[in-house]
Amino acid sequence: MPRDPVCGMEVPETTEYRVEYKGKTYYFCCSHCVSAFKRNPEKYAK
Ligand SMILES: [Zn+2]
Repeated sequence: MPRDPVCGMEVPETTEYRVEYKGKTYYFCCSHCVSAFKRNPEKYAK
């Protein structure tokens, strides 16, 4: 299962909370983590 890079939770790939960044898809548990990622993607994208 993919891991939410913001909070570290495992999330199902079917989640609607996903962001494409530099050709990779990142999955999130909630809209809060999505906006945190979008504010500072370099901090979370590894
Ligand atoms: Zn999260």
